[in-house]
Amino acid sequence: MSGARVIALADCQSFYASVEKADHPEYADRPVVVAGDPERRSGIILAACPIAKRYGVTTAESLREALAKCPELVVIKPRMQHYIDVSMQITEIYRSFSDLVEPYSIDEQFIDLTASLKLFGTPREIARTIQEKVRSETGIYTRVGLSDSKVTAKMACDLWAKKNDDGIFELKREEIPSTLWEQPIQKLFMVGNRMTSHFTSMGFTTVGDLARTPLETLKLRMRQKFRRNCDIDAELYWRIANGIDNSPVSPYTHEEAPKSIGHQMTLPRDYRALEDIKIIILELSELVCQRCRSKGYMASVVSVGCQGADFDRPTGFYRQMTMPDPTNATNHVYHWAAKLFERHWNGDPVRKVGVSVTGLEKEGEYQLSLFEERDRLRELERATDSLKRKYGDTVIMRAVSATAAGQARDRAGKIGGHYK
Ligand SMILES: [Mg+2]
Repeated sequence: MSGARVIALADCQSFYASVEKADHPEYADRPVVVAGDPERRSGIILAACPIAKRYGVTTAESLREALAKCPELVVIKPRMQHYIDVSMQITEIYRSFSDLVEPYSIDEQFIDLTASLKLFGTPREIARTIQEKVRSETGIYTRVGLSDSKVTAKMACDLWAKKNDDGIFELKREEIPSTLWEQPIQKLFMVGNRMTSHFTSMGFTTVGDLARTPLETLKLRMRQKFRRNCDIDAELYWRIANGIDNSPVSPYTHEEAPKSIGHQMTLPRDYRALEDIKIIILELSELVCQRCRSKGYMASVVSVGCQGADFDRPTGFYRQMTMPDPTNATNHVYHWAAKLFERHWNGDPVRKVGVSVTGLEKEGEYQLSLFEERDRLRELERATDSLKRKYGDTVIMRAVSATAAGQARDRAGKIGGHYK
């Protein structure tokens, strides 16, 4: 066991719906959904409780479709601020087990338990205790994937813990060939329908088929298949299939004077309605602002990016703008992020959304630079650079980084001037 890490990915079951059920005991035995806008039948189901799911109701379908399957559905309007508060409450519970807790989405968090074993028991025992604590304090059921890296913990949760009776699964490194590799390729993290058919046509039907292919061979074959250099993608899939992920569980990406604070979210399905996407933007804005506030930063630039799910035809965009005043207030950041999105979105389906802020200054200090236009411009340019670095290096945001590069021509001043 020399030096191996113990990482947990804890996921809240049907998060929004579970929060509502915890607050409304009278709905305990009824099918409950949280929907974008209950008045609008075309609104999207944001969460469905397990009882609703038994009727065939699924996340991201329209309310109309859901009601056709289950007319007695209890439809609840989302209370995003409340869900964010509960999410923070759950983070605090995880923090009582480890100081290394990293949110992956509003209802999923990584916890590094390596240093917690001596205090709290075996990984499985800790997972059980966490489950019980979250359940008794919030009424929410968590499923916990355990492994020695983030990506394998994530798959332990998605592929097994969510289907187990006890909601816990430990994916051991030595058991990867007999467990993960036996799975059909579409079960691999990050592989959607599109990539499934590509991989299948390349002869990769199981995760093991992909994992056992030498990386250089895979790169070559993917180049031939897609007629372009996609080495980064090849390596990404290959690493996931082999469970290779050395990235740390980091509560904050940049502890010291961050260049930017951002969050992104992968959606369960394509989102097509502006109203639904705006809810995600609000959620992300809140997560971003919460981090700004806890660190004492104000931000002057907000950016929003999105990406489609189609690997062959990367869609999406990445845009930023200067806000009229530095801020860390959720409603301000949300206001500008949503405006920015609305202005640049061409209606393509969206699978991934990100919101981030740059031009960070310690609260109280920003007043000074307001008087110094040159400082301010320099600050903006630095912000653009750091965004380029950030997104250029991040595989997940690679499709939008192409657009970000085009942004280089947009002088910082022009961005500010254009939107002010
Ligand atoms: Mg969940």
